[in-house]
Amino acid sequence: MEKIGEDALVVFSGGQDSTTCLFWALARFRKVMAVTFDYGQRHKAEIDCARRIAADLGVEHQVLDMALLNQLAPNSLTRMDIPVDEAIPDGKSTPNSYVEGRNMLFLTFAAIVAKTHGIRHIVTGVCETDFSGYPDCRDVFVKSLNVTLNLAMDYQFVLHTPLMWLDKAQTWGLADSLGRLDYVRRRTLTCYNGIPGDGCGHCPACTLRRQGLNNYLASRKSC
Ligand code: ZN
Repeated sequence: MEKIGEDALVVFSGGQDSTTCLFWALARFRKVMAVTFDYGQRHKAEIDCARRIAADLGVEHQVLDMALLNQLAPNSLTRMDIPVDEAIPDGKSTPNSYVEGRNMLFLTFAAIVAKTHGIRHIVTGVCETDFSGYPDCRDVFVKSLNVTLNLAMDYQFVLHTPLMWLDKAQTWGLADSLGRLDYVRRRTLTCYNGIPGDGCGHCPACTLRRQGLNNYLASRKSC
């Protein structure tokens, strides 16, 4: 693939989706930078995981302190005394891990970081397909925010959402097509209980991740 002669900033958590986006961006852009938001996650392991992957891939990485988010919306991912929902997101109810407006804030801060580095392209792993009730992860919102950011900073940002219409199996397929399925499987952290790789196996994040992987591997076999 011929690379775009511009740089990109990837919103990066160290999880499956954003790591796949990081590889997607590395295949396309001249230089890639990553930004991670530290908002007092239940597991510092998530930040450590993001740092390890960025260092391993030689990607410049900035960790932004977003502890403010914890004051705004205490919830199960940031407060040890509130248990994480064990239910699978059904698209109707909002899981208790939700921080109102979180993605909007992350993308806005990412845009500020990007512009200070002269970067127009921002890549985020948000997705509508496994919709978990986050309105600011929808395509229409991302497009709307893109316009707003351009107006706010008088800059021609381009927000990229390579996973927007992919289900979890197809996201594994994308990692595989980039030659990185094993890396993503072994090195990323998605589990709400802070266990990297295949995780704890029973939290909602692990369940979705495993179902997607099994579906992808089954579809690959049948081809
Ligand atoms: Zn888990």
